[in-house]
Amino acid sequence: MTSVRLMQAYYWQCEDCGQDNYDRGVLAEFGPGEKEQAFRELHDLGPEEPLPENWDQFQLVTIPDEVECSSCHRRWTTMDDRSVE
Ligand SMILES: [Zn+2]
Repeated sequence: MTSVRLMQAYYWQCEDCGQDNYDRGVLAEFGPGEKEQAFRELHDLGPEEPLPENWDQFQLVTIPDEVECSSCHRRWTTMDDRSVE
């Protein structure tokens, strides 16, 4: 049997037609200094604590800003469900 590679994706449901959709995450892009700040926040490091070697290999996958329904092709802006209280 051959195999396929599974990747992380975000699930969402189209509010117009009810289609289940899956979209890949996108790599976050950082401005100057933002990457180090994101790394420190994610790893709970204070501003004075030393960064580990290779810390700049760090990548952050985030949700796409817009998605398109695979059935009705309506486009939607997105919100991150994890940040909703
Ligand atoms: Zn749809």
